[in-house]
Amino acid sequence: MSAGTFPLTRKPHTSSSLCYPIIQISLSQDHYKYFDKTMSDRPKTMKALYYGAPRQFDVREVPIPQAGDNELLLKVTCCGVCGTDGHVHEGEFITTFPLIPGHEVVGVVEEIGNEVKGFVKGDRVVADPGVTCGKCFYCRRGKSLLCESFLGIGISLPGGFAEYVTFNAHKVYKIHNLTDEEATLVEPAACAIHGLDQLNPPVGIDALIIANKGIKTEMARELGVGDELLELDRENPEPQWEQLKKDYPYGFDVVVEATGSAKIATEAINYVRRGGSLMIYGVYDNAAEVHWPPSKIFLDEIRIIGSFAQTHCFPRAVAYLDSGKIKVKGMITDIFTIDDYQKALDKMNSRGAVKIAVKPFK
Ligand SMILES: [Zn+2]
Ligand SMILES: [Zn+2]
Repeated sequence: MSAGTFPLTRKPHTSSSLCYPIIQISLSQDHYKYFDKTMSDRPKTMKALYYGAPRQFDVREVPIPQAGDNELLLKVTCCGVCGTDGHVHEGEFITTFPLIPGHEVVGVVEEIGNEVKGFVKGDRVVADPGVTCGKCFYCRRGKSLLCESFLGIGISLPGGFAEYVTFNAHKVYKIHNLTDEEATLVEPAACAIHGLDQLNPPVGIDALIIANKGIKTEMARELGVGDELLELDRENPEPQWEQLKKDYPYGFDVVVEATGSAKIATEAINYVRRGGSLMIYGVYDNAAEVHWPPSKIFLDEIRIIGSFAQTHCFPRAVAYLDSGKIKVKGMITDIFTIDDYQKALDKMNSRGAVKIAVKPFK
């Protein structure tokens, strides 16, 4: 997965740990309820990408979900694909099956729950996929991202690779200027905002961001992001590391490891300046380990910081992107329909895309 775009590293929880009504829903054939006769103008079934098990998916007709009292039914216009969907494909993290994936949802309000205020049919919106219980040890301490029952729409609950999806209304945010495609970048941006909150970097610091190579590096170069962009040779990175040490003998105030490679995470600490911070921002195999000298962390007073997904960062992400302060034009490089989902996964795995979006139809 690309770093920060909803990496889910929690242990899968058992149903006994669930304590919030919405998270007890799992996607089975009897999960979706049908609309009543008053909505007879709308079809009762929808097209959806359906995983029965890891790596086993098809496109099928399933019942359209019904918005609960506090929910909105969204007609999906677009849904981003990111590295997390690759992990979902493999059944990793907190993925539960059967599942309709898709967690970077952009849509239009189609139906409004009885208790919902502030939305009208037709509002263009994005939605925060995180679902927290509000009741556990961490939620009660105001640390909702660390929720013991953290779940994700499109990860463990029915998501946006479908014609319709429901969200709790308090997780839905209006957009005005972004195109549907561009709006798929709100969720990744929200995760990046959380990363910055975690880092809390002072103005004017030197930062090293280590990311996977590919077309994203080319775009970063075109946009003039950073002073220097280096593509590490995966087979033989040592000469490049050595050069970096020579060029930056005092290292960096902040080093962000976003490749998901434990080997690079181990190496990355050698580029943290005294008093600096190392941020772990990739997705790693659960069995992966790093080997850092504690003496260096002690003597150099290095902070090691994790950053996982986000909660409550959507308002700022929408403000940044919808106002154009963060420019995302041109970042959607590929659009597929649900029917071509395998092609979307292949394209993502080729590292030949900046951002991929999936639409229910052409
Ligand atoms: Zn994502
Ligand atoms: Zn909780």
